[in-house]
Amino acid sequence: MNASLAPGLYIVATPIGNLGDLSPRASQILLNADIVAVEDSRVTAGLFRHLGAKGRMTPYHDHNADAVRPGLVARMGQEVVALVSDAGTPLISDPGFKLVRDARAAGHAVTTVPGPCAAIAALTLAGLPTDRFLFVGFLPSKQQARAEAIAEVAGIRATLILYESGPRLGACLAALAEGLGDREAAVAREITKKFEECVTGSLSQLADRYAEAPPRGEIVVIVAPPGEAAPATAEDGEAALLEALTRLPAAKAAGEVAKKLGLDRKTLYARAIALKN
Ligand code: SAM
Repeated sequence: MNASLAPGLYIVATPIGNLGDLSPRASQILLNADIVAVEDSRVTAGLFRHLGAKGRMTPYHDHNADAVRPGLVARMGQEVVALVSDAGTPLISDPGFKLVRDARAAGHAVTTVPGPCAAIAALTLAGLPTDRFLFVGFLPSKQQARAEAIAEVAGIRATLILYESGPRLGACLAALAEGLGDREAAVAREITKKFEECVTGSLSQLADRYAEAPPRGEIVVIVAPPGEAAPATAEDGEAALLEALTRLPAAKAAGEVAKKLGLDRKTLYARAIALKN
């Protein structure tokens, strides 16, 4: 039992590159936790070295989580259990949500210690709209599954945030251009590290840039929301009216086109009569 912290589960965000981003509160909890559940103890040992301590770590990752979760939840009643991932915010494309769910179900306190997250850091670098965004995580690597996943989000009016690896980046950008249209995008790489960069351009420009030269390091792709559809022109109205007149009488054709394209019904009706004659 820890004297300075109440028992329960603590979700602790850790740096995504620059160790200076570890918050004082995160340090205090990691140093005082009775046990720290980690994805990879070699990675988190580096963080503890930075803190000048050894750390009491136990592995918690995709392969052992179901087996070790009940034991961790049982300890939260009397002890301080911290969860970290290799980098960034646990649970975000990382293990942890079932631990939080089970901790809550068992009535234990759950505390979050917010901090770095590559998705949010990349969003702040990209210069694309931030009022509505969708975190997509990693796309499937197989071509067909990836195209289907992209089609699922194509109509969503939000900036998209994706995690990707260097070797797959070119193919991913090309698939995004194909499935979403040639939207504005950004590739944020090695955020907070020595070779941090954020390259912006259209999806097709970025796909060309990275096709032959897969970049090293860790990557987040940000894609702009779909653009507003351009307002319909008189030519659009004429073409739609001609088509509608092959199926409908003038009044109905004008009504249908007016509704579909947001054009004036009376003008369309007059034009429809003229075309009929
Ligand atoms: N939970 C983490 C977070 O909060 O960002 C993400 C974990 S996910 C398994 C790892 C992916 O995050 C990487 O493959 C990369 O796409 C992205 N990532 C992590 N660190 C990054 C960095 N410094 N720069 C760019 N992307 C990063």
